[in-house]
Amino acid sequence: MPETILVVDDDPDIARFVEVNLRSAGYDVSVASDGEEALEKASELRPDLVLLDVMMPRIDGFEVAQRLRRNPQTANTSIIMLTAKALSTDKVLGLTAGADDYIIKPFDPIELLARVKGTLRRAKEMRNLSPLTGLPGNIRIQEEIERMVREGRAFAVLYCDLDNFKAYNDEKGFVRGDRLIQHTARTLQDAVVEFSGTDGFIGHVGGDDFVAIVPPDVAEDVAKRVVRNLQGKEQKAFLELTEPHILVAHNLTPSDTASMDKQRVLGIATDLGSRTSHAAIIARSLSIPAVVGLHDITSRLQTGQTVLVDGTNGLLIVDPKSETLAYYGEVESRRVKVAAKLRELRETKSTTRDGRHIVLSANIELPSDVEAVAENGAEGIGLYRTEFLFVNRDTLPSEEEQYETYRKVAERVKPNPLIIRTFDLGGDKLAVGTVDVGDELNPFLGWRAIRFCLENIDIFKTQLRAIWRASAVGNVKIMFPMISGLEELRHAKEVLEQCRREVGDKKSGKMEVGAMIEIPSAAISADALAREVDFFSIGTNDLIQYTIAVDRVNERIAHLYEPTHPAVLRLLKMIAEAAHAHDIWVGVCGEMARDVALIPLLIGLGMDELSVGATSVPRVKMALRSLAVPECQELVGEALTLQTSSEILARCLDLATKRYGDLLG
Ligand code: PEP
Ligand code: MG
Repeated sequence: MPETILVVDDDPDIARFVEVNLRSAGYDVSVASDGEEALEKASELRPDLVLLDVMMPRIDGFEVAQRLRRNPQTANTSIIMLTAKALSTDKVLGLTAGADDYIIKPFDPIELLARVKGTLRRAKEMRNLSPLTGLPGNIRIQEEIERMVREGRAFAVLYCDLDNFKAYNDEKGFVRGDRLIQHTARTLQDAVVEFSGTDGFIGHVGGDDFVAIVPPDVAEDVAKRVVRNLQGKEQKAFLELTEPHILVAHNLTPSDTASMDKQRVLGIATDLGSRTSHAAIIARSLSIPAVVGLHDITSRLQTGQTVLVDGTNGLLIVDPKSETLAYYGEVESRRVKVAAKLRELRETKSTTRDGRHIVLSANIELPSDVEAVAENGAEGIGLYRTEFLFVNRDTLPSEEEQYETYRKVAERVKPNPLIIRTFDLGGDKLAVGTVDVGDELNPFLGWRAIRFCLENIDIFKTQLRAIWRASAVGNVKIMFPMISGLEELRHAKEVLEQCRREVGDKKSGKMEVGAMIEIPSAAISADALAREVDFFSIGTNDLIQYTIAVDRVNERIAHLYEPTHPAVLRLLKMIAEAAHAHDIWVGVCGEMARDVALIPLLIGLGMDELSVGATSVPRVKMALRSLAVPECQELVGEALTLQTSSEILARCLDLATKRYGDLLG
């Protein structure tokens, strides 16, 4: 049967040219003249390949590609973009739109056929990959495992097929499993999830492919490493890198990222994740360009390929052409110029054009981040994510150890404030090895942050005592994460007061107590909460995820994560008004505060403080200093009458571009 191709172009001459050429090469060709028609025809025909014009009225090619990918019926259809501009072709190739290849217009029949054939051939090869190993189906798993054993990579792996049963272990040599469980699993990961925790398991993948893993005592970790090995990924390879690399990985945990050496890891690209996942936040604070949520980038790249990571625009450009490199060369020199201007701002105040001072502080994750706080001209620390004390360790940090850490950071930023956020364990920040929060179906809605602390009172009190002691030394404030209502806040404050008594007046200082407002219930009851705290710090990363019900680390729905959603705007207004009605200050410490396009909105809403990753401080300062409060208030007034996120964003961009267009590029 001939392969079917759908050609989509609003220019009838091009559509006709492509159709005629492909038909004469033996393909079964259909044509659509706009995006809507393309989507309908693609669902109905399920073509092997869609040739898609990028520039089309109403729905452009990027959007069509994304919608094809999201529809299970067309998710695996190959896509080639037809584009006129050199740069946009890189975007296509950057895979953010999920395309497989591109053709620059004008093109000739030879190029057209070469691209079409190549894409269809690659798609066929992909279909033949073993779902188990991601290796071409004709590579026997046995051979692969033998190779890994030779290279010293595989361990505790038991491989067999129906007739032939062999087992390998890199330490013990040949071992034999005394128990096999046969199971049909789509991927090895499924098998691992299903069987980890039992004393031996096997994944049956169809045909005669069997892989069994014998995890005598260390099931989970061994299983994860085996999966990595089978996928040809090195365990924690980035820790041992000897030369600079761009790291391409399926997913990175916050602790993976926190332990990276930024001299060696020049850029990051991952299949999973989103802008506000903690791994991405940490990459940003290390100034490592990162593009996350690329779905299947690990299977599309080979070690040694050249890629360019544009973290600002979320693009990964594969094998960049010389024009692209020249373009990015210009971007880089503009960036250097802007950076020089920004450095000059270090000693200046974060005051708007009309003289309103907005406190501009920095977020830190690790004590070592403190150096960057003053270096970038921040006025202290607005969010210290203390849960990162748990990274890469097997024991709980003692009171003494925590005290020493907090004290050093507080002394370093004194007389500026250090706002310590109590442990926000759970969600995507599991403390593997120290505290087990268990497996939860919905970790972001589960046993996280203050909920976890109030039930693990010893861990909580140890931290609170250490914080009280540090408050005797520096300008320390404390805040509780994930407060959902008044009773929870009161409970946390009671424990805090008990700890103050335990530490004693002599060893503790004065301390402002704040609540993070990051759950819609807290935003809506901000009025009640404001009576019982000294400040609010708005965690927009979570507030947005909970308001719009968009998992902040799920790349599939990342497009729904909209800080300018009208509902978010109304909640922010409610929080700021409640704070000011009760004479307390209110800040924003989520990633929204570092988005210079949205700063006019935050100023107009009356935020008293913004806290952002230290490296973003200079940009935010420049934005603040370019704005005047009345124009921001006017913007908010107008935004509140608008019904959609994109209209609100467009208004913000108008003002931001007018005042500091340079910063937006
Ligand atoms: C937030 O939710 O916006 C926040 C600052 O906290 P975290 O990102 O650590 O959840
Ligand atoms: Mg949060």
